[in-house]
Amino acid sequence: MTLTQQFIDQTDRQGANNYHPLPIVTETAEGCWITDVEGRRYLDMLSAYSAVSHGHRHPRIIAAAHKQLDRLTLTSRAFYNDELAYLSEELTALCGMDKSLLMNSGAEGVDTAVKVARKWGYRVKNVPRYEAEIIVCQGNFHGRTTTVISFSTEEHYKHDFGPLTPGFRFVPYGDAAALEAAITPNTIGFLVEPIQGEGGVIVPPDGYLKQVREICDRHNVLLMLDEIQVGLGRTGKMFAYQHENIQPDLLILGKALGGGVYPVSAVLSKAPILGLLTPGEHGSTFGGNPLACAIAREALCVLQDENLPQRAAEMGEYLMDGLRAIDSPLVQEVRGKGLLVGVQLRPGLGGARPYCEKLMDEGVLCKETHEDVIRFAPPLTINREEIDWALERVAKVLKV
Ligand SMILES: *Cc1c(COP(=O)(O)O)cnc(C)c1O
Repeated sequence: MTLTQQFIDQTDRQGANNYHPLPIVTETAEGCWITDVEGRRYLDMLSAYSAVSHGHRHPRIIAAAHKQLDRLTLTSRAFYNDELAYLSEELTALCGMDKSLLMNSGAEGVDTAVKVARKWGYRVKNVPRYEAEIIVCQGNFHGRTTTVISFSTEEHYKHDFGPLTPGFRFVPYGDAAALEAAITPNTIGFLVEPIQGEGGVIVPPDGYLKQVREICDRHNVLLMLDEIQVGLGRTGKMFAYQHENIQPDLLILGKALGGGVYPVSAVLSKAPILGLLTPGEHGSTFGGNPLACAIAREALCVLQDENLPQRAAEMGEYLMDGLRAIDSPLVQEVRGKGLLVGVQLRPGLGGARPYCEKLMDEGVLCKETHEDVIRFAPPLTINREEIDWALERVAKVLKV
């Protein structure tokens, strides 16, 4: 039996069966490259769904982590810590907000945003108690907690996991008129992804966020942007909302905020929203711990010092041009923004999974999303030669 098969069996024997990973067992990684337990090298074109946007083990982020490991790691929010003070200032300045609340996973960030938006609804908008509604989009992905799956439209994310949290309404993604029509006096927020990542790399029409911003303003509804996957450079700007020159009321970050090292998420807002929380209403033992904050601070510095948003714009265009040039009859559409790219295969081909498996055999790691879309989201540090290397292999796999 191969070493790979041994590790897979060992994992599956005692592990819950809630994932369907590609059959590769990773062991080490550096930059855009992963090595498996057999010593084979792969180009990482997934980057942990954007969590490894800086590349694997970025030297500056690893050094910052080491430095903090030798100073202080965890004291809980029973006390203040110096790194949280610095991060709060740097993160709010970066996105033009006044207040931040640090959590760990993305889903926790979304859950936090839902709680604080509801409190705003009752205390500021004066919605009758427990009647607040948040509008979400069909095809959304915001995480896996019980409340967050309550407003998923994927049946198998939730059908065995009720009773579900009430208070959510659905509108089609990318349709601003449908949002306006769905707003009631009890609507307190509109929670939306600037691009739907898990939903299949769905890019809304140009001007959507701008229209949504105007509608939310007109009806006194909070615009809650989930930039967990698309924020921090991925789409070619530091934040995806900057493509349309708007500002959300609540911004949720995660994934790349942890520099590919550690789970760090955050909710950001202007002062009157997060400022509503009082001691004891919310918290997390690990949220805002000094190790997380030191890592996140360096991750933000690296994004800026290495112009990673700009790189994502340039390399994303190069990648999408290259994918379109393959001109495969299997491909219906290549779409995306920056380095978040979806290759939509034609229906009836048996989905994207077999193609991801073939790409793995060729040394390119990526993952299917929404049945028949291959998602390419490499580290933002990827260079032209690496993209060329990937394109050669993609061309081979998509040739008929
Ligand atoms: C990944 C993701 C989440 C959930 O983040 P976790 O860290 O996995 O909990 C939420 N929203 C979006 C848009 C995501 O891509």
